[in-house]
Amino acid sequence: MLTITDADRSLATDLGLLLVRQPETDEDRTAAQHSNATRIPESWLVRSVLTKKPVGRLRFTAVDCLYVTKLAAGISGMEETVAEALRWIAPVVRHVRTGAYDGTELVVRRFASMFKRPRAITECGAKSNGADYTQIAAKSELVNGRPHEMCQACRAKLEAKGVGDLSRLSERSGSSSSRQRDYVRRLIDEGARNGRPYLVGARAIDQLSSREASATIDALKALKERGWKGAL
Ligand SMILES: [Zn+2]
Repeated sequence: MLTITDADRSLATDLGLLLVRQPETDEDRTAAQHSNATRIPESWLVRSVLTKKPVGRLRFTAVDCLYVTKLAAGISGMEETVAEALRWIAPVVRHVRTGAYDGTELVVRRFASMFKRPRAITECGAKSNGADYTQIAAKSELVNGRPHEMCQACRAKLEAKGVGDLSRLSERSGSSSSRQRDYVRRLIDEGARNGRPYLVGARAIDQLSSREASATIDALKALKERGWKGAL
């Protein structure tokens, strides 16, 4: 039977949503009496934590289907899981692609033929869509303090990898401090000794802005934590 799990609740929190169980109505009890019914219907209101406004509605029907309504757009549909429903309801969420792919997906276009494309994996596991950020674009948005449309779950994953808001730091080329540049060089030397030469060129280090240097240090430290494996 469909229900809201602890994992669903924690995803809701990540997405800035709050789930509020609605009281059972006479209509629910009547629907549960139907011969096809397998349960008493259950309705949940989905509110935005930020604005406190209702943004969606979830309904487990008497035949145990999940019916989802996105209130702002006035559209409804069926979803397989509560997690997919929450991701669909969340207002302007842009996910971050990891850069990795898993198999292919079929794209059905309304006035054109179908085609297959590799299925992109996002940081939070949501279905990828056209609004996603690439890994590089997402990092740049975060570093520059503009992650307003970014999915909270994806953002948390990026921040756990050491990408942070550096918008207070200068963007001027060469504005990095000698201490920052020394630190970058030390990390690069360590990377080279661990099988990762040429991570950042010597010329590029001299031209780093304060903001770029800080982001580079974070990325190198994160790479070090991963045993110098994977992309910088
Ligand atoms: Zn996401």
